[in-house]
Amino acid sequence: WLAATASQRMNVLASTEGSHEVSDQETTFQFEAEVSRLMDIIVHSLYSNRDVFLRELISNAADALDKIRMLQLTNADARKVDETQEDLKIKITVDPERKVLEIADTGLGMTKEELVANLGAVAKSGTAAFLEQMQIGADSKNLIGQFGVGFYSAFLVADTVSVVSQSYKDSTPHVWVSGAHGSYTVAPTDQTVFGSEEPEAKLERGTRIMLSLKDDAMHYLDVEMIKSLVKKYSQFVSFPIYLYVSEK
Ligand code: ADP
Ligand code: MG
Repeated sequence: WLAATASQRMNVLASTEGSHEVSDQETTFQFEAEVSRLMDIIVHSLYSNRDVFLRELISNAADALDKIRMLQLTNADARKVDETQEDLKIKITVDPERKVLEIADTGLGMTKEELVANLGAVAKSGTAAFLEQMQIGADSKNLIGQFGVGFYSAFLVADTVSVVSQSYKDSTPHVWVSGAHGSYTVAPTDQTVFGSEEPEAKLERGTRIMLSLKDDAMHYLDVEMIKSLVKKYSQFVSFPIYLYVSEK
């Protein structure tokens, strides 16, 4: 299901201040200062604890699935809301060829605005407290247990993180891409969250996180390794988690 879909990236304009709109194509945004600080801290103080990235991404997928399940109960008119809950799932794919690890979910998905608001700023209550504690030298491991580090922990193992997401409210997917370094881009995309041969494609909603692994993080392409991390961290996730290996 990983048939490569070409992403149309047009006119990437470098921008030094704020965001820069290029028609309805790609927009470059600067991370909020707090996000950059958080990313720095995560990458520099959690190196020996990198495995947590998978727990964080699975827990985000599970949250997104919980949210669409709630919508199914309360909002019968919402588009692409399916009656059965068989479709609520998490798919993890290891792709050794592309050196990519993917975590996809059939949760509620994100609109363009939500990608910017949720993945470009720190909305989390507790983050300010986390940053404060880090500054006064508290032990990072304890803090992580206390606060959780969230989405940005993806950069512990990935050089580039791409998020293809389609909201249940939206008719087109968008892709969010960042290599950290202070900025990210958001653009409409012809990539899809699920490939056309996958049954989940019919839902037209969900999120796929693609991690282009760092040279020193290639062991996360080992299926057995991922399986044991999923068992260790995600045994209480109430949605099925499927593990795939992409073949040439
Ligand atoms: P938290 O989960 O504590 O809110 P995170 O940093 O883990 O913080 O995630 C930030 C936000 O990004 C989430 O609150 C959610 O709105 C959004 N998000 C992250 N991953 C997903 C996903 N797989 N599907 C939908 N929304 C997501
Ligand atoms: Mg989270």
